[in-house]
Amino acid sequence: ELTDVTTLLLSRIRDVADYPEPGVMFKDITPLLADPAAFTALTDALAGIVGSTGATKIVGLEARGFILGAPAAVRAGVGFIPVRKAGKLPGATLSQAYDLEYGSAEIEVHAEDLSSGDRVLVVDDVLATGGTAEASIQLIRRAGADVAGLAVLMELGFLGGRARLEPALAGAPLESLLTV
Ligand code: AMP
Repeated sequence: ELTDVTTLLLSRIRDVADYPEPGVMFKDITPLLADPAAFTALTDALAGIVGSTGATKIVGLEARGFILGAPAAVRAGVGFIPVRKAGKLPGATLSQAYDLEYGSAEIEVHAEDLSSGDRVLVVDDVLATGGTAEASIQLIRRAGADVAGLAVLMELGFLGGRARLEPALAGAPLESLLTV
């Protein structure tokens, strides 16, 4: 049975067929961001996961993980750390390459933003194959920090991201507010 919050969040995500390429059903969260009741409910839910996991920092994944993660960090009273695509951060970085369906990508974090003793909640909008989240978790661990969990607005269950992430998460929870 769906809760009121689940129903609200689900109703504010728009399915866009064949975007950005044929065969992909894109989950567009811009209607949710434009609705203050829905955005507040989402922010409160993510801040609650900070509390339940004992996280001391949020890492947001570029770009929509920034939009969701930053207000949740403020609400929860923890710091926000951006994980960016390579070449965007001015300071000393750690970087992590990972494979895409075609080609590869690289993400970075400022090395000084994470250290041992930090417990990090990773936040993104959509969990698809899990490749981006997996690389982020590897990056966080290499920085010496612990992963408290991964929180996403929507998990695309049919792509198997949850199973792929099991080794990387090593027992840390994957919290999906919605699963399709
Ligand atoms: P993946 O690494 O395959 O789990 O892809 C996750 C990243 O791609 C996330 O940062 C999402 O924002 C984006 N993404 C992948 N698939 C979709 C989709 N169907 N709708 C919206 N965003 C997606």
